[in-house]
Amino acid sequence: MITRRDILLGSAAGLVVGSVDGLAQTRFQGPPPGPPPATRVKVIDIHAHWYPQEWLDLVEKESLGQGATKVERNARNLLQVQIPGLTVTFQPRYTEIPFRLQVMDAQGVTMHALSLTQPMVYWAEPTFGLKLSRAFNDACSAAHLKYPERFIGLATLPMQAPELAVQEVERAAKLPGIRGAYMSTHVLGQNLDEKKFWSVYAKCEAVGLPIFLHPTNTLGADRLGRYHLRNFIGNPTESAIAAASLMFGGVLDAYPKLDVVLPHSGGTFPILIGRWDHGATVRPEVKDLKNPPSHYLRRFHYDTVAHSQPILMNLIRQVGADRIVCGTDFPADMGVGDPVRTVEALAELPAAERDMILRGNAARLLRLDA
Ligand SMILES: [Zn+2]
Repeated sequence: MITRRDILLGSAAGLVVGSVDGLAQTRFQGPPPGPPPATRVKVIDIHAHWYPQEWLDLVEKESLGQGATKVERNARNLLQVQIPGLTVTFQPRYTEIPFRLQVMDAQGVTMHALSLTQPMVYWAEPTFGLKLSRAFNDACSAAHLKYPERFIGLATLPMQAPELAVQEVERAAKLPGIRGAYMSTHVLGQNLDEKKFWSVYAKCEAVGLPIFLHPTNTLGADRLGRYHLRNFIGNPTESAIAAASLMFGGVLDAYPKLDVVLPHSGGTFPILIGRWDHGATVRPEVKDLKNPPSHYLRRFHYDTVAHSQPILMNLIRQVGADRIVCGTDFPADMGVGDPVRTVEALAELPAAERDMILRGNAARLLRLDA
């Protein structure tokens, strides 16, 4: 029996929390005590990370020599993998489905749109990257078939080999429960406007998969090493760079039906928009942009992982409530533990708009209510 206290402590079913081997603090931001919040709609959380067991098994057995430089079990018997520039320790709470369902119920969340996160698969040899992507996407589809009301999947793609990524978009889009594509804010240090990625965008647009972006291995490692700044500053900055690359690089103009979802409420992107609008009138580097940068604000959707009611409200005033989707960053310590009340606290919004944020906008993007 998993108790609420277990969930709060993240210790359910033998789950391990706390600082792991000097890596970032990893205490889970769980739901608050008390009964789950009442909801008028079936809430969708579009920012929820998952390492399927099949995917972890593949990483453990085959990644050494195919991109990983070290694969081992640490003192706590957790899988730990070293890839260039990053060491990742995989914790059970990212994998266990019963724990996940228990937390979702306590939060008042009906559905997770499942996504991978660090280290993604771009570090792997291309064919192994494809194998890892398929393993993740197949596992998402299986989770959806087992729990159709609770899970859908956002497909992982081997972006280090765009032609294989295109193949996988085509295959994954046909799998039951795959409703979006997941992508890092850069691919091995290359920004998303690089022409070699455009065939992937074209395919996503053609098959109707929205692209969900997420930071990995953030910029500025040389200066963001202390105080968890790689997350506090690196992550939100990654969103701004990705949005700028897609906009200034012409991707959004080239694929007008492509939907792109930014994590962490868009990071620093929304607050920079005035500066970019001005810049577009004076700087030759961006003279080819067809519209002012602020025109593109509504080409993106933004999750609710802002950790600030005024900031979230300001974003809604900038882009409209119809561009905001509920997210938690489950099960990270930097996540939102009480996602429904976070949205319900936006009291100046009518209930209908809060319901759009909790379900309607995501359901439209993910084609769930069609
Ligand atoms: Zn995340």
